[in-house]
Parts: sequence; C-alpha cells; structure tokens
Amino acid sequence: MHVENEIKLGFKDVMIRPKRSTLKSRSQVSLERTYTFRNSKRTWTGVPIIAANMDTVGTFEAAQVMAEYKMLTAVHKHYSVEQWQSFLNDIDKSLLPHVMVSTGTSEADYEKLKQILRLDVGLEFVCIDVANGYSEHFVEFLRRVRAEFQQITIVAGNVVTGEMAEELLLSGADIVKVGIGPGSVCTTRVKTGVGYPQVSATIECADAAHGLNGHVISDGGCSCPGDVSKAFGAGADFVMLGGMLAGHDESGGELIEEGGKQFKLFYGMSSDTAMGKYHGGVANYRASEGKTVKVPYRGALATTLMDIQGGVRSTCTYVGAAALKELSKRTTFIRVQEQENRVFSS
Ligand code: 5GP
Repeated sequence: MHVENEIKLGFKDVMIRPKRSTLKSRSQVSLERTYTFRNSKRTWTGVPIIAANMDTVGTFEAAQVMAEYKMLTAVHKHYSVEQWQSFLNDIDKSLLPHVMVSTGTSEADYEKLKQILRLDVGLEFVCIDVANGYSEHFVEFLRRVRAEFQQITIVAGNVVTGEMAEELLLSGADIVKVGIGPGSVCTTRVKTGVGYPQVSATIECADAAHGLNGHVISDGGCSCPGDVSKAFGAGADFVMLGGMLAGHDESGGELIEEGGKQFKLFYGMSSDTAMGKYHGGVANYRASEGKTVKVPYRGALATTLMDIQGGVRSTCTYVGAAALKELSKRTTFIRVQEQENRVFSS
C-alpha cells in the first residue's frame, strides 16, 4: 500500500485568478480551435465542446444542433445501423466533422462500428468508451480499430493518469478521454472508492498527452459554465458534458409531468435504468454505477449552448485571453474553500 500526499483538486477546489487584460468585449473572444491529430493526421476546426455519448444526451437531434454551433456530439452507441443510415441521409454533410460514432469493445460492437463507418466516408471520429480504460482488452481493441481505420480520429477512454494517457496515444488513440467518477449521475466513487478529482486528472493527463502531440477531453463533473472554463484552463483540448446538456427538447426520453412541472429523465449509462433498457437488467456479478434522476425541462438546447459560450468567453476576458487557445496559458488556479454565494439558492 502506498499513499500519495499531494492533494488532488476538483472544480470545487479552485477558481481562476483574474489578470490584466486589453480586451474590450467578450464578443472579441474566439472559441474556435483548430487541431491536427497525432495518428489520423486529420485537422478539425470548431468549438471544442462535446455532448456525451449517453442515450439521453448524445442523440441525433442534439448532434444536429451541436454541429450548428460548431460543437461535437459523441452519438450514443445504441442506435441501429438503419437509424444511422437515415440520419446520414438527412444531415447536411458539412456538419459530419462534428459527429462522433461511439462504440464499446465487444465483437458485436466492432462489427456494428465497421458497418456504420462504411455508410459515409464523411464520418471522421470514433469514440471508444469504457468505464475502465486501464483494461488490457480495451487497449487491444483500440489497436485493432487503429489498424483497420488509419484515417479515423480515435477518442479513447476513460483514464485519469498520465502514464495511461500516454499508453493509449501510443496504441493508436488521437484523443484521450479523462475522467473516472466525476459525472453528475455517476456512483463509481461510492460503489468502488476509485476516482481522481477532475481538475488534477485533466492537468496531469493533458501534460502527458501534449508531450506526445496528443489531445485530451475532460469528461464529466462540469455543473456550470465556470467549470467548463476551469477544464479548459486545466489544459483540456475538449470538454465533454452530460448533465449540463440533459433535459432539453433534443435530449432523449419522454417529457414527464409532475405537480404541474415538466421533467426529463436522465440516467447514467451503467445505471439500473440503462442496463434494464439495453441488457435486460443488471448482471448479478456487477453493481449499478449510475443514478437515475429527473431534470427540470429546459427547452431548446441552443439556449444552453449560448449560455455556456457566453460564460467561457467572459472567463477569457477576465484573464486577457483573446482566444480560447490562450486560456490555459493565462490560467492561474487559486485553491479555495468557497465557491458561489448560495444565500438565494433553493
Ligand atoms: P456529467 O457531465 O453529467 O457530469 O458527466 C458525464 C459523464 O459521466 C459521461 O460522459 C460519462 O463519462 C460519465 N457517465 C455516464 N454514465 C455513467 C454511469 O452510469 N456511471 C459512471 N460511472 N459514469 C457515467
């Protein structure tokens, strides 16, 4: 047994220190970034915010809106090949660089992934997602996908440490997805005791990945636009959001009416709800590691996206970053023991 004594930081433990700035208005701040990926060699330009590959968030409807805002969607893996076919028939092809195809690591997942990618050469991204990115089987799967699809940009995760981020990049990933346990409907830390505070995980993985010309996604734990800015400040090239994008018209699931209020169901992908829906229940050798919650209905996704963009732009003006690209260089985190004033919070 070994104890690391350095305290690791989450979003609630830090704030960004303001810096002298010559920017006059947040409208001057560009949120677009251009990246060239280490293995696929492809270049991508857009606003690097990603809707999570959860079936209530990463829907085709969300993908359309996210792409219009130049953001990305990791479309969840539960759509059939036929559903992909009709989505691809309908969507404007110029939006496809903003769509990721998600997959698990089973043989059936692999066959389905190949079929989906064959539908349209405009699909550039694959997101290989497992709860535990430390497994050997996962790394072998990643190698296999890289060998077959040289020009596809591969996202792989999730991990939280620099050495595993490096291993994924060296095994064929272009972008490493970072986060174990921070998610809004995640119970991994409760069920297993495993995890890593998200700001430190992002800082450490970004540092390791950038040394190999790789990129990272900070995945999970953002509860407000300020957290999205903190993730970028910590060195994330992309930020993935679940809960913040749930509850909208474009989110999966029915509207629920209760006590005169409207809600939408939102649940973790390894919750009882998801496992019941896709696997006929929770297998008896494992525990559910996700919650099911009702989130207040929030209308159009576009409104929330504009709110997030406004927040991140404003962060940039506070630290004198004329573009999102400069935000992490201009970020000094201060460790804190308070966040917002909650006198008027319900
Ligand atoms: P959020 O933005 O809601 O805080 O976090 C979203 C992320 O939570 C997802 O991208 C995914 O990595 C993670 N997640 C989604 N469902 C589950 C689940 O059932 N269990 C766990 N441990 N994590 C989940």
